[in-house]
Amino acid sequence: TIKTEKPTSNPLFNLTYGLFVLSSKLGEKQNGCIINTVTQVASMPDRIMFCVNKNNYSADIIKETKKCNISVLTESATFALFKRFGFQSGRDVNKFDGFNDYAIANNGIAYITKSSNAYFSLKVIDIIDLGTHYGFIATIDDSKVLSTEKSVTYSYYMNYIKPAVKKDTSKKTGWICKICGYIYEGENLPADFICPICKHGASDFERIK
Ligand code: FE
Repeated sequence: TIKTEKPTSNPLFNLTYGLFVLSSKLGEKQNGCIINTVTQVASMPDRIMFCVNKNNYSADIIKETKKCNISVLTESATFALFKRFGFQSGRDVNKFDGFNDYAIANNGIAYITKSSNAYFSLKVIDIIDLGTHYGFIATIDDSKVLSTEKSVTYSYYMNYIKPAVKKDTSKKTGWICKICGYIYEGENLPADFICPICKHGASDFERIK
């Protein structure tokens, strides 16, 4: 179903993004997270830049191992996939437990085989400190097209994949996470607040009412 989009006055919301599973491996443990910032930034040789929040376990792993895979997600990706890789931390759980839609690439790291139309095996050659995020610059060791399905955009995800957040209007004051629907009760949301469910920051919350 199509949800009604509120008009926005924030120009940043008009930028387009894809959605990707960024997978990495520390020791024998496979890990993965959802990122939305992956771009080819140079050619001959091809260079990919991707950005990861510093709080993210994947950022620690990739800083150390300099290796990862990026799976390009498609429009058939389910909300369950985004919850598995995006709404929990690899510090607490093994995100691949009970998950079968992956294979292991030549670099030993998992990549997604269902609802993904391509993957890249990357080698990190530079890391830029961007404040909240690290910018990783990488060369492509290996890559493969997996299907002809359309790549999913962030906007498609917001409109067709993410369930509508049910706002509980009985609460007098509070803030709701626009990503997962978690409600923070209280007049003032601390600027450094991190959503306990999906780990997004205060900027992804909006006032209830
Ligand atoms: Fe959240």
